[in-house]
Amino acid sequence: MQSALHARSKLPDVGTTIFTVIGQLAAQHEALNLSQGAPNFAPDPKLVDGVAQAMRAGHNQYAPMAGIGALRDALASKVETLYGARYDPATEVTVIASASEGLYSTISALVHPGDEVIYFEPSFDSYAPIVRLQGATPVPIKLSLQDFRVNWDEVSAAITPKTRMIIINTPHNPTATVFDDADIARLKAITQNTDIVILSDEVYEHVIFDGAEHQSMARHTELAQRSVIVSSFGKSFHVTGWRVGYCLAPAELMDEIRKVHQFMVFSADTPMQYAFVEALAKPESYLGLSAFYQQKRDLLVHALRESRFELLPSQGSFFMLARFRGFSDESDSDFVLRLIRDVRVATIPLSAFYTDGTDGGVVRLSFSKDDATLMEGARRLCSV
Ligand code: GLN
Repeated sequence: MQSALHARSKLPDVGTTIFTVIGQLAAQHEALNLSQGAPNFAPDPKLVDGVAQAMRAGHNQYAPMAGIGALRDALASKVETLYGARYDPATEVTVIASASEGLYSTISALVHPGDEVIYFEPSFDSYAPIVRLQGATPVPIKLSLQDFRVNWDEVSAAITPKTRMIIINTPHNPTATVFDDADIARLKAITQNTDIVILSDEVYEHVIFDGAEHQSMARHTELAQRSVIVSSFGKSFHVTGWRVGYCLAPAELMDEIRKVHQFMVFSADTPMQYAFVEALAKPESYLGLSAFYQQKRDLLVHALRESRFELLPSQGSFFMLARFRGFSDESDSDFVLRLIRDVRVATIPLSAFYTDGTDGGVVRLSFSKDDATLMEGARRLCSV
């Protein structure tokens, strides 16, 4: 239908997300999809039964705005057990309708027009647009093109009186790096005596490899006091389509976040919340996730050992970067298109995670796939 109006876009330079674009191309060319970070295998049937039971038991109407009490209690106790911080379930824990919603609600509640928000590129593609929608300025800082770690001196230099927030993400999508003690020490030093809020995207908190410890902001009191932690059930229970996550923050910050959350979605899906109460009662389900994905990472690395790609170390998340610059000068987008068409494997060009399209000849592979898909994907990639 032709519109009688001009839409006056708030995001004129933004197109459809890369995950949708590549997903459609993959389907069109019947390519194996190693692009989107979404499992192609089933969740625990007991979890699905839990949702069905909750529906049959009549839990089909709005949940409380902040989430059902039993789930907030279970989350507070999980976080205390794992990371030591005590969040009050009544005022400091909120069940959100996906980590994406939590990021949006947090940024729009706490960032004012004219504020600056520091984040790291390559980054998940929603951060900068959400900041811009507030009339604020995203300030991207590039991770090292060699090892994709943070240069904290650059962060320090980028801070101005307008800096309102720093967005961090560990384990990191798309580079699969994780913060270590030195990163935490620098983050503490840089934010001390400021009113900077840390928005910590911890959706891969349970997918961390080689015995490393997840650096949740909830482990560090001074950081936790200025942090909003956003996490997700989707990644931890293989149900990215259920769109349920949780958010933790000191009461004063959470008060503001709930003001937005209540008008954005009011509450997250009710039956899923009941099922997650049961799931959290069995910590082995999510505590076994690191070993589960480490086996997949290692399988993919092994299967690609004869390929021409240079694989970068994956320390956490279910992603791995693969450099192709050693054997091709194509742009990463052209290269990804060629892989989809010629060998029928879909990946994500790393340039999609930069606002300025930086292209170092790298693609992101997702190994949240069954072993047969990983083996066949690797076999095809070895022919490139
Ligand atoms: N987080 C997932 C990824 O990075 C998918 C996100 C999405 O499709 N919106 O692949």
